[in-house]
Amino acid sequence: MPEKVVIIGSGPAGWTAAIYAARANLQPLVFEGAVTRENQEKGTLPLGQLNLTTEVENFPAWPYVDASILEQFSKSALPPERFSNLEGYYQGKQAHKGKRSAYGPEQMEYMRQQAVNFGTRIVTDDIVKVDFGKHPFVLRTLEEQTVEALAVIVATGARANYLGLASEDRFKNNGVSACAVCDGALPRFRNKPLVVIGGGDSAIEEGTYLSKFASKVYLVHRRDQLRASKIMQQRAFDNTKMELKWNRVLDEVLGTDAEGVTGVRLNSTVDDKKEELDTSGLFLAIGHTPNTAFLEGQLALDDKGYIRWTHPQRTYTTVEGVFAAGDVADSYYRQAVTAAGTGCMAALDAERWLAEKGWL
Ligand code: NAP
Repeated sequence: MPEKVVIIGSGPAGWTAAIYAARANLQPLVFEGAVTRENQEKGTLPLGQLNLTTEVENFPAWPYVDASILEQFSKSALPPERFSNLEGYYQGKQAHKGKRSAYGPEQMEYMRQQAVNFGTRIVTDDIVKVDFGKHPFVLRTLEEQTVEALAVIVATGARANYLGLASEDRFKNNGVSACAVCDGALPRFRNKPLVVIGGGDSAIEEGTYLSKFASKVYLVHRRDQLRASKIMQQRAFDNTKMELKWNRVLDEVLGTDAEGVTGVRLNSTVDDKKEELDTSGLFLAIGHTPNTAFLEGQLALDDKGYIRWTHPQRTYTTVEGVFAAGDVADSYYRQAVTAAGTGCMAALDAERWLAEKGWL
């Protein structure tokens, strides 16, 4: 018997789709991704990009609360084997005292558990190959299992691009971030100089956002012209807290394990000069890569590799019965809450499509 709905991906879009599909009695099967070294290096482990962040202050319904309440909440909401994934946040020196928003990993565990509570089944494996030319659709996992599905929701997200320096990796979540909107307002970045790498709209948007909290924002770009739209360029030039560092690339992130990032070393792209800047934060804004390679061109993608939605306000793709939700189909908003919204839409679209076909 084919599955009614298979959901590929385990970020906010995947779990929201699962919650809705499960409550519609579709018994969804979620492939949450494999726990492999390759996925760890690429930033594509289960639970998505939110699982790589600290406090999430912009997801509605999560005001600040005492960290001890969050610990109790986690203990009550999650089975012990999932609670153990979060335990480190509540104990030891690193534990936050006082009030805070829920961390990304906490929110992702809660979303996953909410899907489980309504009967979602989960396989901790990647889908590495699909055949959308046949119906039921055929999906193959990394562990070489084959699954058939009447409808598929692709919610595999995107991953932030990093430069690949060892020092950058060392300070991830300790001063290095690829999401100013997620992390910029954290105390460690307030009233301190910050560095943004990139010359596109995202870099300026992130820099503008950070300039509300930072004492100064250095925008480091590898050329002498920005890629960003003219209006965004003007915004950067008009911002008195923003200083452009033209023709420079990141050579090394400087810091200590205790303090996190304390500075960066830049190389000039036009001569041999090096320069060090004091900073408590480094924000990468050099683009994202959607996780669509496994589709091998079976769904139409846009020119940046994101899945193309074919109808306004719908999650339809170019293959009938295959729906896309979250960042894998959205290079523009890229927020947890918008991903969750399109996850809900994809589940409703899949349910209606299955009903129309008489398969429910
Ligand atoms: P993007 O336009 O592709 O820009 C990426 C920037 O990162 C470029 O300036 C690029 O330099 C630089 N870069 C890439 N790889 C690098 C590397 N290895 N080392 C140093 N620099 C590197 O990406 P984006 O800014 O994320 O924007 C993506 C899309 O979303 C765009 O279409 C954008 O217009 C849109 N967007 C719009 C808004 C808005 O309108 N408010 C906000 C955000 C994003 P080069 O220029 O030298 O290639």
